[in-house]
Amino acid sequence: MRDMCYFQVLCQVTVVSLLITGCDSGSTTPTTPVESEIVVTGASETSPSSLQKNSQERQAKSVTETKKSTANKHSNHKSDSGDTQTQKKPETIYRPDDKRPLHNNQRLALLGIHLYESPRLKLYTDIDPKLAATLPAVIDQAYPAMVDYFGPLPPDREGTEFQVTGYIMQNRELFRKAGLILESLPKIFNGRHLGAQFWMDAQSENYYLRHLMIHEYTHCYSMIMDNIGAPVWYLEGIAESMATHNIDQNRKIHFNVMPYNKNEFGGLGRISLIEETVRGAPPKSMLEVMQWESNDFVNNNVAYAWSWALCQFFDKHPRLSKPFRQLSRHMQGTEFSKKFQELVKDGYSDINDAWLLFARDFQHGYDFERATITFRPGQPLDQPNLSASAMITSDRGWQSSLIHVEQGSTYDVVADGTFILAKKPKPWESTADGISFRYFKGQPLGRLMMMIRPKSGAGSSSPRSILKEYPLGANATWMAPVSGTIYFRLNDDWAELSDNQGSVKVTVTQKKIAESVNLSKK
Ligand SMILES: [Zn+2]
Repeated sequence: MRDMCYFQVLCQVTVVSLLITGCDSGSTTPTTPVESEIVVTGASETSPSSLQKNSQERQAKSVTETKKSTANKHSNHKSDSGDTQTQKKPETIYRPDDKRPLHNNQRLALLGIHLYESPRLKLYTDIDPKLAATLPAVIDQAYPAMVDYFGPLPPDREGTEFQVTGYIMQNRELFRKAGLILESLPKIFNGRHLGAQFWMDAQSENYYLRHLMIHEYTHCYSMIMDNIGAPVWYLEGIAESMATHNIDQNRKIHFNVMPYNKNEFGGLGRISLIEETVRGAPPKSMLEVMQWESNDFVNNNVAYAWSWALCQFFDKHPRLSKPFRQLSRHMQGTEFSKKFQELVKDGYSDINDAWLLFARDFQHGYDFERATITFRPGQPLDQPNLSASAMITSDRGWQSSLIHVEQGSTYDVVADGTFILAKKPKPWESTADGISFRYFKGQPLGRLMMMIRPKSGAGSSSPRSILKEYPLGANATWMAPVSGTIYFRLNDDWAELSDNQGSVKVTVTQKKIAESVNLSKK
């Protein structure tokens, strides 16, 4: 039933989202030619944009044709094969023509705005030349990652390579006076993109300067086609995902990575924002995040943080990653909405519960692989012993005991065995009581923790009762506050599960029924 209701809301959300472009995203189809506002020279340039002036009339015509063809085909970057049009010769899909303006680079240089160019980026900026010179190469490394993630772009009618013009502004007024900021462009906050151009402010942290540039470039790349219908949380979340990068010892840049500390992702602060939010309140549900509209992102890093986290949850989830990544090939028209509904249709409750647990525990270095929960419903304890056991391993997150408990009944839990919590500097052996000289989230490392997952749709306590944790230790007696399946884990930092070893045997025994009833009446 909850799934049904969810579906109705989801449909509405996705339909509404079709009307919205990204928060700091301009329309993907520039409506006014930008040349009139920019000084155009006849200087010999070899960049793709040099072709545009000579072919304006042809472009105007071809834009119409492109729109028509893309609307008819509602294709994505990488067109699906096996379409129904087997009889007709398939129509070639083109990306919109390159409408970027040509600038008088000499004039701009006199104003202090210099050009730095690589195959994939023309960067106009007034920032420190040493720093500026490094940036186009960053985009040239990001480009293949985008091709890989979103699929290759269709060709344009001129046969030119895709290139973006970016403006990184220390002194925004300078760019305004030079005519580089379009009057038609809504107010720029941190960054803004329009077609194959983006504008952004310079940043004090070098990491975040690159991050924001890749974020805007991702919009340019992934939204260059007409009729983008993907919702805002996805457009912003996925741009944030691609932008999150690290540079290894060989200067190779890795994109769509999980930040493993604060220092090397200076100025980002996305995880800290989420940690702050969940310290005082339950995590935002999937639906809350998916309902945000463009305006919710204006000057609101929290919205970016949650949209990114939701994308990361899907993108890194061992089972959901593959279908989620496929969504990047269905960003036009209503395709995204359909595909997303297919992804969640059989398991919204499971996915949302897993999301809530993830969001509550999200931290630097979060180990997705080991921390991801698998929901497996439990069975009631059988007569005559009313007892069952489960092996709980120390190198995973929450694990189903396959035991169902009844609200108001009382249970004994005994955990036998020892396990290793870390190997360095020497092996730390622990029992299920934990090691009291190191704590994580207020509990000793290694302590047996429990949570109860109510049956799907089991009243108002669901689903957030899964967020309640009960520290048990090696011996405990407790009364079930809710009916459901019990899950255990051995307490440890979510970034440090990989060096754990061993497991404990947890035995759950129900107290006599009469005794339980008496207790529950108190
Ligand atoms: Zn954005």
